Amino acid sequence: VKSQGRNGAVRFMPHMSAEEQRRRNLEFDLRGAAARGELCLYYQPQYSLPQRQLIGFEALVRWQHPKLGLIPPMQFIPLAEESRLILEVGNWVLHEACRQAAEWHFPERRLCMSVNISALQFEQPDFVAQIQSLLGQYGLNGENLALELTESMVQRDQAHAADSIQRLQDLGVRVALDDFGTGYSSLSLLQNLPFHLLKVDRSFLNDLLYSSSHFNRAFTLLEVVMKLAHNLNMRVVAEGIEQEEQYELLCRLNCHSAQGYWFARPLPAEAAAGLL
Ligand code: C2E
Ligand code: CA
Ligand code: CA
Ligand code: CA
Repeated sequence: VKSQGRNGAVRFMPHMSAEEQRRRNLEFDLRGAAARGELCLYYQPQYSLPQRQLIGFEALVRWQHPKLGLIPPMQFIPLAEESRLILEVGNWVLHEACRQAAEWHFPERRLCMSVNISALQFEQPDFVAQIQSLLGQYGLNGENLALELTESMVQRDQAHAADSIQRLQDLGVRVALDDFGTGYSSLSLLQNLPFHLLKVDRSFLNDLLYSSSHFNRAFTLLEVVMKLAHNLNMRVVAEGIEQEEQYELLCRLNCHSAQGYWFARPLPAEAAAGLL
C-alpha cells in the first residue's frame, strides 16, 4: 500500500519501519507549517553576571502540530535539516525573532536576540546579505542580533566560514560558537574563526556543584575556558544554570553571562515580555 501526498511525498510504504514512517509523516506535515502559522518561538532570557541584568533572549522554535500538539525542536529540526525544509523554517525563525525584537524595542533597550542557525542556512551564498536586509527591514542594529553556530557546520569550509563571520561582525552582529566543548575540534576552530561569543554547553555545568565528586575538575576546566576566551577576546555565555550554587561559582569564574532554568525556562512571547 502506498499513497501519494499532495506534493507527491510517499506517506506509507510497507518496507519502512514504524519509526521511519513517523519521520516521513512528520516531514510531510512540516512542509508549509511556517506558512500555516504552526511555528512559534519561545524566548529564554539571558543575564549578565554578576549583576543579573537582562541582556537578551535566545529564540527557540516550537511546532504547534494540529494533531500532535507542541513538538520540541529536537524532534523536527534534524528532519528539516535532512530535507532542506530548514531553509523555510530557519527563514521564518529569523524573521519572527527580528520582528519580536523590534516590537520589544531592542535598539532603545540595547538588548540582543540570539538565533540558532543551521548549516544549510549559513552556507547560502547570500546569507550575510539576507541578515543585513533583515536588520534594515525591522529597524534593528547589528548589536541587537546574535547568531549561534555549532562547530560541525563551520568545519567543512573554514575559510568561507571565517569570511562570513567577519562580515557579520562588521555589521555588528555577534556570532556565537554554540555547544562549546561537546565536539572534537573546538580549539582549532577558535584559532581560525573570529567568534565573538562562546556558549559553554550545559554538560560542563553538571559537575559545577560542591557536592559533585568531579567538582575540582569542572571548576578547573571552566577556569581554563574563561582564560582562553579572555585571551582570544571572546565573551562566555554559560547555559543550563539550574542552581544558585552554579550561578555563584560562575560569578567567581568571571563568566560574562548565563541562561538556564534557575533564571527562567524558555517562555512564550507574552510571558517573556513581562521580563522587559
Ligand atoms: P540549544 O541551542 O543548545 O538550546 C538550549 C536548549 O537547552 C533548549 O532546548 C533549552 O530549553 C534547554 N535549556 C535551557 N536552559 C536549561 C536548563 O537550565 N536545563 C536544561 N536541562 N535545559 C535547559 P530546546 O528549546 O528544546 O532546543 C533544543 C535544541 O534545538 C537547541 O539546543 C538547538 O540546537 C535547536 N533549536 C532550537 N530552536 C532552533 C531554531 O530556531 N533553529 C535551529 N536550527 N535549531 C534550533
Ligand atoms: Ca543555541
Ligand atoms: Ca547550546
Ligand atoms: Ca545543544
